[in-house]
Amino acid sequence: MKDINFPLFKTKSDVYRKFDLTDVKSRQEYFEYKAGPEIKKLREFLKDNTFIAYLLGKKSSGKGTYSKMFAEVVDKDHVAHFSVGDMVRSFDEIIKDESKKKEFVEFLKKNYRGFISLEDIIKSLENRSTKTLLPTELILALAKKEISARGGEGRKAIFIDGFPRDFDQISYSLFFRDLINYRDDPDVFVLIDVPSSVIDERVKFRVICPVCNTSRNLKLLPTKKVEYNKEEKKFDLICDNSSCQGSKMVTKEGDEQGIGPIKERLEKDEGLIKQAMNLQGLPKILLKNCVPVEKASEYTDDYEITPEFSYEYDEKTGEIKTLEKPWEVADDEGVLSNSLMPPPVVVSLIKQLTKALGLDAESV
Ligand SMILES: [Zn+2]
Repeated sequence: MKDINFPLFKTKSDVYRKFDLTDVKSRQEYFEYKAGPEIKKLREFLKDNTFIAYLLGKKSSGKGTYSKMFAEVVDKDHVAHFSVGDMVRSFDEIIKDESKKKEFVEFLKKNYRGFISLEDIIKSLENRSTKTLLPTELILALAKKEISARGGEGRKAIFIDGFPRDFDQISYSLFFRDLINYRDDPDVFVLIDVPSSVIDERVKFRVICPVCNTSRNLKLLPTKKVEYNKEEKKFDLICDNSSCQGSKMVTKEGDEQGIGPIKERLEKDEGLIKQAMNLQGLPKILLKNCVPVEKASEYTDDYEITPEFSYEYDEKTGEIKTLEKPWEVADDEGVLSNSLMPPPVVVSLIKQLTKALGLDAESV
C-alpha cells in the first residue's frame, strides 16, 4: 500500500519454542507463551468493561479471522464480532418472509431517518439489486438494533467489521459508540495492511466443499488428503469433514480471476485506511500481515510464516508428494515478503490493544 508504512511488529521470542499454529491446543499454548500477561490483563478488563474496535482493511484481508481468533483466545463470552456485510446479506431472508418483512418495515418506519425513501430502499432490497448502495442512515439504525439485541446477559466488547465502509462513514464512526449507548467505552481503530498479492492468491487458490461449504486453499491451506485428477492434470483437495464422505473441493465461479473483479473496491478500501490514519483523538492499532523476507528471521519465528504447498504426482506408484516452503510474495511496494499466519497478527493485536486501553502500566 503506497504512502502507508505500518511498522513491523516483532513477535520473535527470546527463547525459541516451536508451536504448530494449525493445531488448536498448540495454538492456545503459543498465545500464552507469546502474550500471556497481556491476555490476563485483557480478561481482567473485560470482566467489567467493554470496548469498540473498528476493523478497517481491504476486502478479504482477514478482518473476521483476526477478531474471531482474538475472541477465542482472550474471552469468547465477552467479545463479539459484528459484521455489517452479514447483516446486509440477512436482509435477503427477511424480505422473502412476509411476517419478518412486516416487522422489519415497522421498525424502520419508527427508526429510520434519511434522504432515500423507505419505499425505494425496500424495493431495491426486493429486487436484490446489489448496485443500490444502502444509505448509511439505514445501516446505522439496523446496526444499533442488532447490537442491542445481541447484548443478552451483558454487554460485550465488539469488533465491528464492515463499518466504516465509505468516506462519509468515517465521520459517523466517531459518534457510533454514543449511538449504540457505549458512550463511556474506549473505542479504537484497527487498521490492517495486507498486500494485494496476498489477497489475490488467497482468492485464486481458494476451494470450497460443495457439501459443507468449508473453505480451504490449494496452495496455502490444504486438507489432509489430496487427489490427482489425471484427465485435467490437476490436484484436488478432499474435504476433511468425515460426514462429507470424501467430497472433492471446488473453485467457486469467478475466484480464478483473483482480485481482478474487486480492484476498485480494494483501492477504495486503501483510501479509507489512509484517511483513518489521519484521525486524531482515538487510538489506532496497526496490523501488518507481512514482513520482508530479509527481515523475517529478525522479527518472527519460522513457524509464524505462512507456508506454501505444492504437489508432485508419481506416475509409477500413484503417490502424491506434498512439498512445503515459506510462501514468498511481493508486497505493494514490490518488496519480496513473507506472509504471516493469523496467530502472530493476533499477538500483535493483543499487545497493541492492551496498550491502547492503558492496561500495560497497571499491575495485575
Ligand atoms: Zn465438506
